[in-house]
Amino acid sequence: MPVDAIAEKLLRWYDAHHRRLPWRANPGEPPTEPYRVWLSEIMLQQTTVAAVRAYYAHFTTRWPTVTDLADADETEVMSAWAGLGYYARARNLIACARAVVADHGGVFPDDEAGLRGLPGIGDYSAAAIAAIAFGRRAIVVDANVERVTSRLFACDRPLPAGRPTIRALADGITPQERAGDFAQAMMDLGSSICTVRNPQCLLCPLADDCVARSAGDPQAFPVKAPKKARPQRRGTAFWIERDRHVWLVRRPATGLLGGMRALPSGPWTDEDPAFADAPLPARWADAGSVDHVFTHFALRLRIVTAATSAELTDGEWWPIARIEEAGLPTLFARAATRAIAAAEQMER
Ligand code: SF4
Repeated sequence: MPVDAIAEKLLRWYDAHHRRLPWRANPGEPPTEPYRVWLSEIMLQQTTVAAVRAYYAHFTTRWPTVTDLADADETEVMSAWAGLGYYARARNLIACARAVVADHGGVFPDDEAGLRGLPGIGDYSAAAIAAIAFGRRAIVVDANVERVTSRLFACDRPLPAGRPTIRALADGITPQERAGDFAQAMMDLGSSICTVRNPQCLLCPLADDCVARSAGDPQAFPVKAPKKARPQRRGTAFWIERDRHVWLVRRPATGLLGGMRALPSGPWTDEDPAFADAPLPARWADAGSVDHVFTHFALRLRIVTAATSAELTDGEWWPIARIEEAGLPTLFARAATRAIAAAEQMER
């Protein structure tokens, strides 16, 4: 396969059809500043473009530079991130901004190795930032690129074990020049044409080079190893009311949803939820449950409610009417909605 021709065709297609995104420079324009490339890349991990837009706009308005973000109040940043999920990213975001300011004079390192040394920047993000912000030749392989590459070459090594092979194939078609545009072109092709289901091969600039297309079954790629079932865990969240306020705590800094405001909740285990970890003895009423899927397990969180006049420690009373401003992560925001709905039903 003429690999240089692939990059050329793809870049020509990109020049005409690239997505216009707030964090992206159009072809021919100077690159977006590294702070914004980094911010968008971290936000886009495990999250859709549509979901990221509003968060990106808010963050770049509230904290226009990496120095502003480094100086930011951690609680405010965590609240601003609420709803985007994968909260370790937000904690690393602050740590990374502070490291850039403290260790690099407020300037992002301009190569993959330097970027990888920063909190929250792994191999993929380092390659993406190096290519997009600094024009470095780097091999950027996200899920879209993985799909396009595996189809182009009909790579039948099942994922995840086949990742190094796909990376080597992507390396073989990445050009020396315009590596950032090439990476973004692959991402755009994967998200708009070479989609998971029903790839639009008739519109694809690489159709003549694509082995999976000529074999007649592009959707068979990438080949994936059978998935292990996701374990199911259970937990209980405690909705405690007093004078139209609810008791909120802050989760431990490390671990899932670390550092976020939340309802008090017991451990999440394989066992049925129990009340042993209730923050106070009370007559708990059942308000139903919410299901939430984390990367490594699914959680069924039961919500129980009670009113109290007892003094509690290590938390805060938050006005129920302003619960949406508490910056609760999605799981606890849904639990709160459930508790409020249950209380309204009781009043009827
Ligand atoms: S020809 Fe079809 S399968 Fe091949 S890269 Fe293009 S859209 Fe994907």
